[in-house]
Amino acid sequence: MKKNHVVWHNAYVKREDRNRLNNHKSGLVWLTGLSASGKSTIAHTVEKRLFERGFRTYVLDGDNVRHGINSNLGFSREDRGENLRRVVEVSKLFVDAGILVLAAFISPYKEDREYIRKMFEGDNFLEIYVRCSVEECENRDPKGQYKKARAGIIKKYTGISSPYKEPENPDLIIDTEKLELEASVEKVLDVLEQKKFIGLER
Ligand code: ADP
Repeated sequence: MKKNHVVWHNAYVKREDRNRLNNHKSGLVWLTGLSASGKSTIAHTVEKRLFERGFRTYVLDGDNVRHGINSNLGFSREDRGENLRRVVEVSKLFVDAGILVLAAFISPYKEDREYIRKMFEGDNFLEIYVRCSVEECENRDPKGQYKKARAGIIKKYTGISSPYKEPENPDLIIDTEKLELEASVEKVLDVLEQKKFIGLER
């Protein structure tokens, strides 16, 4: 890291203060899984349910951040790592700002996911593996990307021409081939409650 003589300035309003004001804790819920496994759909539905209960939430979505802050990145191993590094930094800011963040990113590499966990060590962090076979994801193909990947139009597509390493020890596995959306959402809310992300505010 380059030394640039920049010194951290401590905020007067701290995360604990914001959590107290919001009446709930902030944290990061990380959803990993193949494209079309259901990460975004689950994240946005969970967010809607939490929003209705008065939570400050935000969904960071892989496809969306690649339109903005990460629009200069591709899908090489290096760029995928940098994509997640920036998302982790953005998540840290959101969590510091008192938000319960739901991040939906394929995040196919174990080392990258370990890095994310490490950055949030001892903090409010949950890893959720949204599991679905490549075959089923390819059947769903909501954005037509698997078709393009099979045709070679999209290169290095996870599950087709780029690997996905399954998480070994996630906090929760949701099998979207077996569970309907509503049941998947309930499972996430249950684990959020078990891990004391939510529930204490009442
Ligand atoms: P990802 O964010 O993982 O790329 P999306 O949420 O964008 O996936 O797309 C998942 C697709 O699968 C959607 O079209 C959604 O309606 C469908 N789907 C089917 N069953 C489920 C389920 N149990 N949970 C979430 N999505 C599901």
